[in-house]
Amino acid sequence: MDSPSKLDLNNILNKVITKLDSHLEQAPLRCNLVQLGNDGHFRLEVESDLQGKLFANRYLEELKRELELVFASNVTVTIKVNKGHRSKKQHHSDAIAPHLSLIEDTPASQPPAPLPKGSLRGNIRTDYRLDNFVIGDCNRLAVEAIRDIVIKGKAPYYPLYLYSSCGLGKSHLLQGFCAAVFDRHPHLKICYIACDEFVNDFIESLRNNKQNEFREKYRQIDVLVVDDVHFLSTKKASQEEFVHTFNALQNSSGTLVLSSDAPPVDSKEIKQHLRDRFGGGLVLELDLPDYETRVKILTMKLQQKMSGKPVNAQWMKVIEYISSKNFTNVREYEGALNRVLFSIQNNGEMNGSLLDCVRELLKENRTWTIADCFRLIKDKFGVPDADLKSRARNRELSLARSFLIRLMREKLNMSLKDVGKLLGRAHTSILELDNKTIKKINSDPEWRSIWESLNNCD
Ligand code: ADP
Ligand code: MG
Repeated sequence: MDSPSKLDLNNILNKVITKLDSHLEQAPLRCNLVQLGNDGHFRLEVESDLQGKLFANRYLEELKRELELVFASNVTVTIKVNKGHRSKKQHHSDAIAPHLSLIEDTPASQPPAPLPKGSLRGNIRTDYRLDNFVIGDCNRLAVEAIRDIVIKGKAPYYPLYLYSSCGLGKSHLLQGFCAAVFDRHPHLKICYIACDEFVNDFIESLRNNKQNEFREKYRQIDVLVVDDVHFLSTKKASQEEFVHTFNALQNSSGTLVLSSDAPPVDSKEIKQHLRDRFGGGLVLELDLPDYETRVKILTMKLQQKMSGKPVNAQWMKVIEYISSKNFTNVREYEGALNRVLFSIQNNGEMNGSLLDCVRELLKENRTWTIADCFRLIKDKFGVPDADLKSRARNRELSLARSFLIRLMREKLNMSLKDVGKLLGRAHTSILELDNKTIKKINSDPEWRSIWESLNNCD
């Protein structure tokens, strides 16, 4: 069993108390959790028999459960009453759960001081959690690095930089990471931000002459996660600002986790000094999961859709069939599963076995529709239809839109005018964009491989 730091233990204790009794954030309950040796023995020190009883009745089971989860072994917790004990340790910066230590130092007659509260900012999906992120050889190192920070509340390297092509789990892992850090270290200020939001925020601050406020905002953060930093590629001024943020957070010993579609060394459109900084910590890649991992991911996804019910043998066959297909990212595998579910829920009676229907559904040479084109693009790039039709632009969105136009032109033979109407653009812009796309597909291997994967989807 790993030796936890005092801070980890105190955070666990804090979490248990506030989980069961949120009002105790203000209550003068004094206790201290210490580990005795390495055999799963812990001692909880309290100040009176009454507190001991209260703890045993109310929190002990939950505390044990939490400790067993964290340390993955059986634990015993002994409650010890230290009458008249005042812990000097609580003056240390890594003292017990923050609210408990503050109360310890407050004379009984005075109201407790306000608590140093943390926060979690950002658009975080509740279904992107660490406990439903499937681990395989494709992502093991990245997950280990993430878990290490979750346990410590701080990264031992600056920054942690994760990269992969789209749809391989970066955003899921990073959002799950933020939620887990906040859960475990509720006093920390955590911010998850997509890089395009960071850039917009920066531009807005320039427009309103509020650069100082902008900088201050990011300086106060303990854990900053910026998703898709490749978005900085074409934004020179924002790159410079990002260097400031990067340095400020490093100087205040914060944690920075970044994701991108390429390793720093290949991000040629990012200025050298920023690229060097990106590569200065730990750089890890997420890969396409192998067959077994794909089966686990799709099983997990299907279970979630069925409110946790186990997947039966018939559906396991479907999952195995989808997992054996040659897609290029997890989003596409998930998209195929969603398609199957949607079709089965909406088509009522089936002719033949479930697997036969799925084979039929995912077979090639099918007739294309506009909805198919949007769906494929959504599966591949994660971009909703409304964004594709909007005027908004960022690298991923422009890329997705280019391929959407190409698909509609090639698979549906749609006129430039009709495509333009659908996407709210002049037919000349569509022509220009589409010619560019054709050129790129013929000259750039990355574009070619995206095009091939779109053609191979079903
Ligand atoms: P990226 O940010 O790399 O483009 P996402 O995080 O958006 O990719 O992942 C795309 C989809 O694939 C999401 O629905 C995500 O939940 C799923 N996914 C990817 N990898 C895993 C994994 N290892 N376990 C569970 N789901 C995964
Ligand atoms: Mg993402």
